[in-house]
Amino acid sequence: MRVKVDADSCQGQQMCSIAAPEIFGSDELGHATVLIDGDLPTELHAKARRAQANCPEDAIIIEE
Ligand code: SF4
Repeated sequence: MRVKVDADSCQGQQMCSIAAPEIFGSDELGHATVLIDGDLPTELHAKARRAQANCPEDAIIIEE
């Protein structure tokens, strides 16, 4: 599983970094960044899906 953030959709509410601080951070403008390059460890898959489900802008893209 890989995770991306659609920078054009992200509005920076940071729900993702609250739900999954191991995966998401923020840039200087408050928009989400992905902290893990490449495949996510299996133990973080559920957190990634939870963050995606809770993103109010539908800005989190998960590639299986
Ligand atoms: S929850 Fe969604 S809109 Fe908010 S910072 Fe994270 S990716 Fe961006």
